[in-house]
Amino acid sequence: MLECNRKYLLKTFPNLYINKDEPADRYNIPFWFECGDGWFDLIRRTSVELELLILDFIKTNPHVPETKRPCAKEIKEYRGKLKIVMRFATPAMKEVVEKAQEESTHICEFCGDKGELQQIGWLITICENCAEARGYINKEIVFEDKRTKEHRKRDK
Ligand SMILES: [Zn+2]
Repeated sequence: MLECNRKYLLKTFPNLYINKDEPADRYNIPFWFECGDGWFDLIRRTSVELELLILDFIKTNPHVPETKRPCAKEIKEYRGKLKIVMRFATPAMKEVVEKAQEESTHICEFCGDKGELQQIGWLITICENCAEARGYINKEIVFEDKRTKEHRKRDK
């Protein structure tokens, strides 16, 4: 993800990304988003919902210390889908995370257009244009639009 997008998310949702300066993983690098910018808007919208739920949590659980509050631990692409790992997530937060994961299978990870989960040796959610630009188009991958078009042609 572009650095400006990363910075925007970390700055706009301070409670969700409260651990942003903590090394996120074994590579000892601060919090980042391990996915393409096509999912930026999905992550932004999901972050709005999660940040509000965390603010609610803080209001109703004022005695829970900052280190035990729900927050994002990791956000990345995993098997073609958006994976959001939370710490201390409530059931409502888990629901938001699941909804985002499901939605990510319909959004191209690279450009944000309508995409499809495709198997190209590995799993990827991509649109036809990006698949073509990256040289992923081959016999095994057919997009829904094309299937529908082929259908229409046959029906005529
Ligand atoms: Zn695309």
